[in-house]
Amino acid sequence: MGKGKHRELSSATRLVGAGRKPEWTGAAVNPPVWRASTYLYEDSAAQEAGRHVNADGVFHYGARGGPTQWALAEALTALEPGAAGTMLYPTGLAAPVVALLSVLKAGDEVLIADNSYDPTRSAALHALKDYGIAARFFDPLDLAGFPALIAERTRAVLLESPGSLSMEVCDVPALAAAAKARGLAVLLDNTWAGPTGFQALAHGVDLSILALTKHVGGHSDLMLGSVTANAEYYPRLRKRSLLLGQQASPDDCALALRGLRTMDVRLERSSQSALKIAEWLRERTEVAQVLFPMLPGAPGHELWQRDYTGGCGLFTFLLKGADRAARDRFVDALELFGIGYSWGGFESLVLGVHPERDRAAMPWPPAGCDPAERCAVRLWVGLEDSDDLIADLERGFAALKLT
Ligand SMILES: *Cc1c(COP(=O)(O)O)cnc(C)c1O
Repeated sequence: MGKGKHRELSSATRLVGAGRKPEWTGAAVNPPVWRASTYLYEDSAAQEAGRHVNADGVFHYGARGGPTQWALAEALTALEPGAAGTMLYPTGLAAPVVALLSVLKAGDEVLIADNSYDPTRSAALHALKDYGIAARFFDPLDLAGFPALIAERTRAVLLESPGSLSMEVCDVPALAAAAKARGLAVLLDNTWAGPTGFQALAHGVDLSILALTKHVGGHSDLMLGSVTANAEYYPRLRKRSLLLGQQASPDDCALALRGLRTMDVRLERSSQSALKIAEWLRERTEVAQVLFPMLPGAPGHELWQRDYTGGCGLFTFLLKGADRAARDRFVDALELFGIGYSWGGFESLVLGVHPERDRAAMPWPPAGCDPAERCAVRLWVGLEDSDDLIADLERGFAALKLT
């Protein structure tokens, strides 16, 4: 850091230097953990003067963070062209919730893409609703129908691309342009691609949301979220976040900073292994469809190729003619893929998923699929050898056939 030329360097290079300010790190390479609730002032005059300083990077009280949190926030800001600043949250879920609370008030409505992360949907439906904020779900693939959805009280749109579980890629620049033409705030959950795989703000997004729990943490041992905003929205995001007492632990931020340094190689390895596995799955007679935007010919691949510079090894596939019990046999037979929530860690994961449980505006299974083919399996491909993972999936297919 400190050379001021990040925007011209590739993301792999920027990940190495981001956030490493000498005044925060000293001579240490990675920013150390600064644990503090209280910072001491020289005298009363300094304390009184400090009360009026409300800026990132200035000591005040632990709730405003310290050098470890600032270093992570600054790193995420540096990775996002067009960003004015980043706020951190104790979970990935808190990030979209507080971002929505920073752009909406009672009486407003938010349009939420129907393929969004289920807990985000639930937060809007069951918590924001109690504060007078309405949520309406829409099909983000229906570009032509989008402008007509915007009502007088609609103030924001929340997108997720690719969509959680079902992996649809939406046309973010087109939806963002249509939304902004009507004065809406545009929010995107960019957890799948992350800032190195999709430059959200440069594609028209105002507030880019990440569950740092996933790729940035990278080791399945922390919970953390962030929102990076442009100059128009950062001041109100920061103000609302501080008013609501949002802050992340310095220990978790230090782990996230450590994870950030290797994120590029981890995502590259995960994506390449996932592509090989997805191609192999596509040839299996037991597989109806592979939903992986990085895979040529898969749904969303053209938009992914147009807008994205990377991705990750998270994708879903549909089993052909399998009932729930067969799908569970497949999942349970795997030995290298653990059954568990989340993704982005070094280890591979598998989950039987049910997008149809959380749909209001989009069909599931996707068009062209037999309704009997809705048994979906989501894979997170970690850092194991891809041939070992394929051999593990063979075990799953063998179990699928047993009745
Ligand atoms: C996991 C996830 C979140 C929430 O992150 P947590 O840290 O688990 O709360 C939000 N959005 C997406 C797309 C996710 O995958």
